[in-house]
Amino acid sequence: GKGIAVFTSGGDSQGMNAAVRAVVRMGIYLGCKVFFIREGYQGMVDGGENIIEANWSSVSCIIHKGGTIIGSARCADFREKEGRLKAAKNLVQKGITNLVVIGGDGSLTGADLFRQEWGSLLDELLGRNEITAEQREKYKVLQIAGLVGSIDNDFCGTDMTIGTDSALHRIIEAVDAIVSTAYSHQRTFIMEVMGRHCGYLALVAALTSEADYVFIPEDPADVNWPEVLCDKLVQERSVGQRLNIIIVSEGAIDRNGKPITAELIKKVVVENLNQDTRITVLGHVQRGGNPSAFDRVLGCRMGAEAVMALMEANEHTKPCVISLEGNQAVRLPLMECVQQTKAVAQAMEDKNWELAVTLRGKS
Ligand code: ADP
Repeated sequence: GKGIAVFTSGGDSQGMNAAVRAVVRMGIYLGCKVFFIREGYQGMVDGGENIIEANWSSVSCIIHKGGTIIGSARCADFREKEGRLKAAKNLVQKGITNLVVIGGDGSLTGADLFRQEWGSLLDELLGRNEITAEQREKYKVLQIAGLVGSIDNDFCGTDMTIGTDSALHRIIEAVDAIVSTAYSHQRTFIMEVMGRHCGYLALVAALTSEADYVFIPEDPADVNWPEVLCDKLVQERSVGQRLNIIIVSEGAIDRNGKPITAELIKKVVVENLNQDTRITVLGHVQRGGNPSAFDRVLGCRMGAEAVMALMEANEHTKPCVISLEGNQAVRLPLMECVQQTKAVAQAMEDKNWELAVTLRGKS
């Protein structure tokens, strides 16, 4: 059977384990040899114990766990050709010519580059007598399927990334908890949530928690936002509300591109309204904990589809990313989605928010 390896890379997210599990079991079911690569690209470069064959039971009891049991890492070595040569040699030695990469746009970019270079990497290894001519021929094509694990939902091409739904659950629980204590003391709370270029978590959390105000990067606030915000808070209190909740995405900005931080909002509220105001930064709590049912199902479906895509691929097939479109798992060209995602981030940097939203919407 074919050799498939699965690894998780970049930032972790809930539901990655479900995806790993599905890759292993679908692969075994279809007669493949499936390997784990531990610690992302670092494990691929280092080889040895980092690349081990998986069996059916090695993925038992992981579907409910957050994070990734096979570890994730950022890896400088893989950015260098020498690192990728080592990685290629390690894969050839194990007979691995199919990779399922679970990560963000950086990890997927690395995988695409690796696939493009694969032939020349093998030539170089052959030239150095590190692989045989037989191996060069037998393992001449590397197939790639990508899955997007990210709590931010910041990837173009998929309706939901693996981990987003769980992060939302975590945020909602936190807001609900804050609401009860805020009520008792008639306080105003500013809650900072993750999302550097993408306000999805903040926006959906605000909608579903009845927050009074939300700041997101895609819709920068007018420069007079302090006035507008204070009017809104006063109005809510005047109709009998005992608390206010303001949700701010970590990437929130105003029309001039100036960051709107939780501290800044607090200063505005305290100076203008003299309300008892507190900040809660949710931080990595959002990435932790058990995956939701949705993320478990998403991970399972994406993982299974990735294996099917690899099995059906031939040497002309381009790397794909498995995406959720409506309720369907679909295969999209990996690099086009990555490039679109990067274009959105660039448009945001350029303060061209309309373009950013249009580009994201198009995908
Ligand atoms: P994410 O996958 O979450 O976007 P990073 O951008 O940190 O996270 O990428 C994770 C890893 O992927 C990097 O540490 C590096 O090993 C690899 N990688 C990212 N971009 C490239 C690239 N252009 N070339 C080679 N490897 C890359």
